Amino acid sequence: MESALTARDRVGVQDFVLLENFTSEAAFIENLRRRFRENLIYTYIGPVLVSVNPYRDLQIYSRQHMERYRGVSFYEVPPHLFAVADTAYRALRTERRDQAVMISGESGAGKTEATKRLLQFYAETCPAPERGGAVRDRLLQSNPVLEAFGNAKTLRNDNSSRFGKYMDVQFDFKGAPVGGHILSYLLEKSRVVHQNHGERNFHIFYQLLEGGEEETLRRLGLERNPQSYLYLVKGQCAKVSSINDKNDWKVVRKALTVIDFTEDEVEDLLSIVASVLHLGNIHFAADEESNAQVTTENQLKYLTRLLGVEGSTLREALTHRKIIAKGEELLSPLNLEQAAYARDALAKAVYSRTFTWLVAKINRSLASKDAESPSWRSTTVLGLLDIYGFEVFQNNSFEQFCINYCNEKLQQLFIELTLKSEQEEYEAEGIAWEPVQYFNNKIICDLVEEKFKGIISILDEECLRPGEATDLTFLEKLEDTVKHHPHFLTHKLADQRTRKSLGRGEFRLLHYAGEVTYNVTGFLDKNNDLLFRNLKEAMCSSENPIMSQCFDRSELSDKKRPETVATQFKMSLLQLVEILKSKEPAYVRCIKPNDAKQPGRFDEVLIRHQVKYLGLMENLRVRRAGFAYRRKYEAFLQRYKSLCPETWPIWAGRPQDGVAVLVRHLGYKPEEYKMGRTKIFIRFPKTLFATEDALEV
Ligand code: ATP
Ligand code: MG
Repeated sequence: MESALTARDRVGVQDFVLLENFTSEAAFIENLRRRFRENLIYTYIGPVLVSVNPYRDLQIYSRQHMERYRGVSFYEVPPHLFAVADTAYRALRTERRDQAVMISGESGAGKTEATKRLLQFYAETCPAPERGGAVRDRLLQSNPVLEAFGNAKTLRNDNSSRFGKYMDVQFDFKGAPVGGHILSYLLEKSRVVHQNHGERNFHIFYQLLEGGEEETLRRLGLERNPQSYLYLVKGQCAKVSSINDKNDWKVVRKALTVIDFTEDEVEDLLSIVASVLHLGNIHFAADEESNAQVTTENQLKYLTRLLGVEGSTLREALTHRKIIAKGEELLSPLNLEQAAYARDALAKAVYSRTFTWLVAKINRSLASKDAESPSWRSTTVLGLLDIYGFEVFQNNSFEQFCINYCNEKLQQLFIELTLKSEQEEYEAEGIAWEPVQYFNNKIICDLVEEKFKGIISILDEECLRPGEATDLTFLEKLEDTVKHHPHFLTHKLADQRTRKSLGRGEFRLLHYAGEVTYNVTGFLDKNNDLLFRNLKEAMCSSENPIMSQCFDRSELSDKKRPETVATQFKMSLLQLVEILKSKEPAYVRCIKPNDAKQPGRFDEVLIRHQVKYLGLMENLRVRRAGFAYRRKYEAFLQRYKSLCPETWPIWAGRPQDGVAVLVRHLGYKPEEYKMGRTKIFIRFPKTLFATEDALEV
């Protein structure tokens, strides 16, 4: 048999804390590489699971695999997502503590796949609830619907989630799933009207065109060919080899029924999807006074019907802007460019509000039907967070700014919770805490979110000066306000050395994961996210029941400015952090092995970046600050008792005393280990390896 040592050489260690040279990034990556080569995609950093996307079906998520990981101790089986799933579930059952599994990683790293596997694990292995067994199906079926409307093919991922998702699964006191709730974050709505080369719009459009019945398409006034729609041709890639739109359509149609959509609601929903496509094909021509006129009557006719809005109202709204001056309403005509802008803004608003409505509708369907019964109060919750990872592109804009801010917040929470749980464990075990040096990224969070002085505040302030403020005045104000901040830089503030790499319309943030340069173009507009008043009015008059729920008249009379996008996002993040803080955390860190979506390729440069962005070295350092390894006395004794005549075959006394006898016999030096209340703590991996190797002899 292969000795443990040579096996370690070949497949690496299954927990990074056992790396001898734990501060070396090279050693870390080498360990990942070895395991990846052997199709071992999972490795721990203590309780954190690191996962590398294999880009192939490894057949490791079967029912047998689920059974294998049920009820066993985390460290006694090879690392696996199901071990995380089961550990969280058992803590939820036995300690009745809410759990949260946070899944992070860059686009294409496998977050959504992991979320789906986790849900499947719970759906298949948990007992069925006494009543309302349908909730299991609903939990599973909500996913294809959300993906159809919120996912798209991008250059990085053929099924990229273009929104952040947090999902709660509620369990009753018997551990059966009885309900759920979803929170969604920042849908990338710009995709509705524009896609980069090689990318697509949201899946639902192609699914409907490919799979929709003749009758349906006729009603909606749609042609099958995606090339007919301007909103679908920009990326020039309607067909994707890994995607079967026709099949997916069937799945989505069925799923809609499972999550309680009536036939009428499906019709209303599809009317909206179709109306977005028609909107995209609305053309304008300029009259003698350069004012925009709608030239595509047919599209307007379908829009009128599908949205249930008067044709004349819609026509006027698309070509005019209503201004209220001194209490009087004035209609000011739009030129071609402004009309196209208004049209696109409407398409984005219609789509993104429909998405929000969809999430609310799914939530009603997932709401526990037992909400009124006493057992409801004793439910526990397991949350799954599938949210965008750190993003650095060639050109980074407002969206990346929001996403990276979100990652700063989650990193902060991670550090806080990890340090706290380490400290708590030391305390519980009666072992002296040895302070850990770590980088606290609170300073960057503050830079972004602080009242008055933070970047978001300054951006909001500029958004309050329409007509005067521009993206560049925003940048100037930033320069004035945060010029001495160690994590902030602009062209003006940079010294000779760094100035070259910074453009004039840019600012740079030194994130915990590295530097990112943001281009301010579009910041004000995206943060304001205004829809012209008459477009809103038109939509408020819609007779499509979904639209009339999405556009409420109270919006028109509301004197208060709606919160800006960044502020809304900030508040939803603060809420998310509170939710997560109230739960016991588990972490899955996903890594993408290459940019080609190919199996077997381990691109070291790419992976090194991710190890950095995910803060894995820092994580390992905190975990290894004191002791590499800790195990319950019972488990330790059980495994190694054969190495000592006094503990073999049975140790009759307390396990702790048995372990004391055992390690003395093995010659552990006092500085190598500590005895806690229930666990032994071993400082260096080599001590453990020597013991492990002794087993093999
Ligand atoms: P995004 O941020 O773009 O939404 P993501 O992290 O959610 O990305 P996924 O959609 O989960 O990425 O994964 C991308 C693709 O990688 C999947 O469609 C699948 O083909 C493959 N993949 C991911 N995880 C696994 C896995 N565990 N086993 C096999 N294939 C996987
Ligand atoms: Mg995803």
